This record gives sequence, C-alpha cells and structure tokens, in this order.
Amino acid sequence: MPRPTVTPPEAPHADPLDLGFLASVAEGAARLTPEQALDLFRRAPLTTLGRYADARCRTLHGDSIRTYIIDRNINYTNICNARCTFCAFRRDGDEHDAYTLEPGQIHEKIAQLVAIGGTQILMQGGMNPALPLDWYITLLRGIKERFPKVHVHAFSPPEFIEFVHFFDPPGSTLEAKIRWVMVRLRDAGLDSLPGGGGEIFASPVRRKIGLGKCDAEAWLTTMYVAHTLGMFTSATMMFGHIEGHADRIHHMRLVREWQDRAIRESSRPEPMGHYKAFIAWPFQRENTPLGRVKDWGTQPGELDEGAVFPGDAVARLDGDGDPRSHAEFGRRVRRSGATDYLRTQALSRLFLDNIYSIGASWVTMGPHIGQVALNYGANDMGSVMMEENVVSAAGTTYCLSEPVLCRLIREAGFIPGQRDNVYDLLRVHSGPNSPDRMVDDWSKHRAKRLHAQTLDSKPTSVQLTTQAGSATSNSIL
Ligand code: SF4
Repeated sequence: MPRPTVTPPEAPHADPLDLGFLASVAEGAARLTPEQALDLFRRAPLTTLGRYADARCRTLHGDSIRTYIIDRNINYTNICNARCTFCAFRRDGDEHDAYTLEPGQIHEKIAQLVAIGGTQILMQGGMNPALPLDWYITLLRGIKERFPKVHVHAFSPPEFIEFVHFFDPPGSTLEAKIRWVMVRLRDAGLDSLPGGGGEIFASPVRRKIGLGKCDAEAWLTTMYVAHTLGMFTSATMMFGHIEGHADRIHHMRLVREWQDRAIRESSRPEPMGHYKAFIAWPFQRENTPLGRVKDWGTQPGELDEGAVFPGDAVARLDGDGDPRSHAEFGRRVRRSGATDYLRTQALSRLFLDNIYSIGASWVTMGPHIGQVALNYGANDMGSVMMEENVVSAAGTTYCLSEPVLCRLIREAGFIPGQRDNVYDLLRVHSGPNSPDRMVDDWSKHRAKRLHAQTLDSKPTSVQLTTQAGSATSNSIL
C-alpha cells in the first residue's frame, strides 16, 4: 500500500461546485478548505458528490478491486465507567449481565477465526477499572504465543486515556503517560489501534453525548503516540444525532491536520505510522438514552422556513461553538438516512485527501446501501466478522456471509479482494473458485438482520458463521 503523499495546495477562492476544481480535487491536485467542504456538502447534488468521490477513489485504488478483511470483533468486557448517551452496550460492574471474558475464552474465539482464514482481531471493551495493566499484558502475550500471525488491532483512544487514569504511569505530560502504557502493550503484542470513540470531536457535542469519555485532544494525542511508535491506526466518526453539519467538517479537519503532521514526520529515521482508514457511520438509536431525544421536525415550527436545526445553530468549523446559541441544542436529533450517509461518505473521500482507505458502513445502512457506497468514494467493505455484540445492542444491523459480500462487491462492478490490516491484498477473487462463484444455492446466504436487544434481555454474543461487517457501531468507546 502506498505511503501518503505530499499535501495538495488549497485554492480558497475557487467555487467548490466548479467541476474543473472538483476534478482537480479528485486528481489530488487541489485541497478543499473546510469552508468549501461545508458549501459543497450543502449545495452539491448527491450525484455530483458521488461522481467526484468515485473519481478520487479510482485515482487512489484503481478501477478494478475493492476489498474486505476477515477478522473477529472481540469485546472483552462490557463493564464501563463512562456513560455515553448513545451507548446500549455498557454495564455497571454489579449488573447481572456485566461480563469480562477470561483469556481462555478469547483464545478460543481467535482459534475459530484462524480456522476460517481470518487474519486479525479487533478487540475493544468498556473502560473497566477492575482490570490492572498486568491483565492486558498477560492477555496480549498469551495471544501472541498461541497465534503469532494474528494481527492484534485493539484498544481505542478512550481506553488508553482510562489506562492512564487507572494505572497512573510515570510521565509529566499526558503524551508521556500514554507512551509509557502503549510501549508496554506494544511489546506484549499490540499491533495497531482502532479508531473507536471518535464520535464527533467538537466539544459542545462531545460533552453532551460522551459522558466520561476523553476529549478530542486526548483522542488525537493517543493516535499521535501510536504513530510515533510506528503503528497504523484508523479514524472514525459517528454522525446523525445532535451535531451540525459544520461539526462533521471540523471533525474531518482535525483528522486531516494530524495526518499531515504524521506524514511530515515520516521523513524521520524512526518508523512512523499514520491513519490508514476513515470510517463514518450514522447513530443507531435503539435502547440508548440519546435515542429517546425527539427527532428534529416533529415539533411545531421546526419545519417552517427559516427554522434552524439546533446543532447547525451551534456548530462552527473551528469546533468552538457556543452550546447556548440554541435553547434546544442537544434536545433534538437529526437522523441520517441513505442520502445523508452517502453525502457524508463522499465528502470524506474528497476532503480527507491524505487518507488512503474510506470504509463503507453497510452494517448499519444495509448491504445494498453499502454496495452503492462503493461508487460514492468507499474502497473497502469492512470486515468479515464471526460475532457481533455491540451494534445489535443499539439497533438492527445486518450480517452477510463472505460469498454474499464478494457478490455485492462484484455486482457493484468490482473484483472482490481479501486484504490484511495494512491493505495489502491476500487473495483476489477473479477466478471460478471465488467464494461467491462456488455457491450453488443462494437461498442459504441471504442477508440476516440482527434484531435489537432490549435492555432487559440477557446480552448475547450473536454467534454466526462467517459474517461480514465493518467495525462500526455506536462504538463501544
Ligand atoms: S461507548 Fe464505550 S466508553 Fe461510552 S459508555 Fe459505551 S462502552 Fe463505555
């Protein structure tokens, strides 16, 4: 996979709807400013956004192959001392359905993954104050002893910030404390960090929805430390709730700026990592406190001409909005549908000119929107998972078998390819032995819907055969 290249120049006076300018952005010859991105998001027809996002994707990834990975989500604990209002997964330690997996249970799950050709685990949990540093080190060492070839993609930034609080490591700055913990986990077997817990970076939104979770600066600093240790990471965004459109641009702007920094510093002699991927998905409301907030447009006057969604009234491109600018801020959600999702994803491809991979989030949007997303800037269909514990707690999600995933990619006009964590291709399914071309009876491979758990129901690991999904949810973390 190619390294990120030089930063394209900005042309702040260009009209973002000028097709010549958009063509330059698609070629990587011009960079959108945040103001242009917001204007583009609001004014451009969906098909225009899609056309140029697709052109940008083809510039980076070519015309033929679109990818997926076989990995397994392992949520090692649901005990969490944060109280994010969008989360249906967390439990207090004394709740009847709180759990922490034993290392042996985790090893068993990885063995099942390896048996079907999986290459990576995505391991995240709640922020559980009862687990000491030695628990994590022993777990990672045990995994690497038994499964040295399995890539361990684990512990997103909010977990690291809580590790700092729980373990009280030496260091005079947050960065030094994070580094102290991360070096020990890396030496025990941690390979890379997932981008969970990004949500929306702007503090007015984050303070409302991410109760007890780290702020943007801490999130981005954690990823920067990982990059300086040579690790590759991903970034995420959860939208379609109380945020304004400018908050989405501000969020992506911060990712782009820190990626620029990582690229600049990659000329040092020491290995330097960076963000490999960006994945955005809409908020899933079932069983969450945030999901009980009224939808925008349901109250008198909210659809009148001139009415402004509270999130838009507060949001600023510098992330420094005043939550007092609208009395209903945080009390209305503006849910995202298919077009808003595709617009957001397409814009992320055009704006994040220094991020290699944009992932389609079909887990929440459904397989056919995911398929369309491959023509709106996404190059990757996410992960083939073997279990799902989190997304299904917050709403209905979809699970697909590997053959169906390959078929979706092929019917979208591409050749499916299995990739590894750094986006190198492991297998290209162009021949007759491809997973989708070996299927005789498609009735056994219909997309399954995972129905929402209620808060009263015992949490279940939804055990599946080989299922596909990106690492998206209302994230844990
Ligand atoms: S999203 Fe993560 S950090 Fe927030 S409450 Fe849920 S498990 Fe805890």
